[in-house]
Amino acid sequence: MITTIKKEFHWEMGHRLPFHDGLCKNIHGHSYRAEIALTGPINDTGMVIDFYVLSQLVKPIIEELDHSFMVDHQDNLLIDFLNEHSFKATNVEFYSTAENIAGYLCDRVIKTLETIQHTIDYIEVSIWETEKASATVRKIIPEEHRQYLLFDSK
Ligand SMILES: [Zn+2]
Repeated sequence: MITTIKKEFHWEMGHRLPFHDGLCKNIHGHSYRAEIALTGPINDTGMVIDFYVLSQLVKPIIEELDHSFMVDHQDNLLIDFLNEHSFKATNVEFYSTAENIAGYLCDRVIKTLETIQHTIDYIEVSIWETEKASATVRKIIPEEHRQYLLFDSK
C-alpha cells in the first residue's frame, strides 16, 4: 500500500532578496514552516518511515538554519557584514525565495535519506514563508538512494 506521511518543522531565519523592487530587498526575517511529505510502500513494521527517524534526520538541518541569515553568494554587502560580525549565516548559491528554499531543503533531506534504509519513492517539501504564502517542490528519490532491505525476503 503506497502511503504518504508528513511532518512539520519550524525555524526563524533572516534573509533579503537584493534584486527585489519592493520591501523584500530589505533585511527581514520569517518564521518559516516546512512540511516534509514522504511517499512509499509501507514496510513490515507498518511504516513508510518512523517519524522519530525522520525528525532525527531533519533536526540538524533545521538547527543549522535556525536564527541564521540566509545569504546568496552574490550578496557581497551582506556576506562582508555577516563575516565581520561573526553572525550566524547560511551561505547558499541561490536567491532565498520560498521556492528555492523548498528545493534546497528537499535536496538536503534526500541526502540524509542516503544514510538509512528506506523504501521512499517520492519527497515533497513545502515552505511557508508567511501563514498564507507557500512553495512546494516534488522530487523522485533516485533509485540508487532507495534500499529495500526492510522487506523480509522469506
Ligand atoms: Zn522575506
